[in-house]
Amino acid sequence: MDGSKQLADLLRLEGIQDEAVLNAIATVPRHEFVPASVQDLAYVDKALPIGADQTISQPFVVARMTELIYRDEAADRVLEIGTGSGYQAAILAALYQDVCTIERIESLYEKSDALFARLEYDNIHTRFADGFLGWPEEAPFSAIIVTAAAAEVPPVLLEQLADNGRMVIPIGDQWGHQELHLIRRAGSGFEVDVLDPVMFVPMREGISNE
Ligand code: SAH
Repeated sequence: MDGSKQLADLLRLEGIQDEAVLNAIATVPRHEFVPASVQDLAYVDKALPIGADQTISQPFVVARMTELIYRDEAADRVLEIGTGSGYQAAILAALYQDVCTIERIESLYEKSDALFARLEYDNIHTRFADGFLGWPEEAPFSAIIVTAAAAEVPPVLLEQLADNGRMVIPIGDQWGHQELHLIRRAGSGFEVDVLDPVMFVPMREGISNE
C-alpha cells in the first residue's frame, strides 16, 4: 500500500487539478515529515502537530497553494517562508530547480535541515532567520509561498518577487479568519486575488532558539 499515491488520488477527488502537483504529492513520503506519535495519520488529509506549537499543513492546502503558484515555464526558483516540518519544501523540490526555505524556530530548522540531507533533497537550501526579511542574496524568485499567516503582505517579499512572479500568502487575524491571497507581479504593479479561507499559525518577527 502506497500512502503517498492514495493521498494524491484523494486530493484529485477533492479538486486539485495540476497533474505535476499531484505527482509531487504521490512521490513525497509524508510519514518522514511527521513525528513518530502521529505516524499512523501521515496520509490522512489533516494538519498535524510537529512540536514547538507548530503544525505540518493539511495536504490539501499544501497542494492548493502549490497549484496556485506553480507554472512549468517559470519553475526555476521558489522561496518558502516557514519551513516547519519540511514537507511543503519537499513538494516544491519535486517541481522547482531550487527551493530556498526559511524557518525562525531553531529546533525546526535543524530537524528539517537534517531530514533534507538524509532524504537527499540536494536542491533545498535552508536558512535559520526571520522570513519577514526574505532572502535578498538569492532574489528574485519566480514564486514565493508563505506558510504562516500575516496581517498584511510583507513589502520586502514583494520586492523579491520576479517580474511575472506569483506569491501565495495567508492574510488575516492570528488564529482567526484568514484568506489565501494570490499576488501576481507585472513590472512594478501587483494584481491580487483573494481566495480560499484557511487557518495557519501566525507569522512572527525575529528568531527563536526554542
Ligand atoms: N510549511 C510547513 C508548515 C509550517 S507551520 C510544513 O510544510 O510543515 C508555519 C511555520 O512558519 C512554523 O514552523 C513557524 O515557526 C514558521 N514561521 C512563522 N513566522 C516565521 C518567520 N517570520 N520566518 C520564518 N518562519 C516563520
